[in-house]
Amino acid sequence: MNLSEIKEGWLRYLMSAWFKQRQPNPELQKHLDHRFETCTSCPHMVVKTYSSKRNWRTCGKCGCAFPALMFAYGKKCPDGRWQEIDKDIWQPVKKENSHM
Ligand code: SF4
Repeated sequence: MNLSEIKEGWLRYLMSAWFKQRQPNPELQKHLDHRFETCTSCPHMVVKTYSSKRNWRTCGKCGCAFPALMFAYGKKCPDGRWQEIDKDIWQPVKKENSHM
């Protein structure tokens, strides 16, 4: 875990709703779905429950917070279950005739 990955993960996690509204990038979504499914079924995922409605998940291998860790493109799973993602894939697909 390094500060750059933490910053990247949280920033892109917070931006993810905006990315989806713009136009989801199918290739990026494929990577995020894979990371989500892998992490949520991983034996190293640590879930701390604070109340009946709140819990906090972290990776027991690197200590990164989930789901923010999924959004750090340069991060690799510390257990080799997924790899980094090419930075170019993180751009949203531009809509045709978009004036934004
Ligand atoms: S980052 Fe890797 S080791 Fe950590 S919870 Fe996700 S799949 Fe498991």
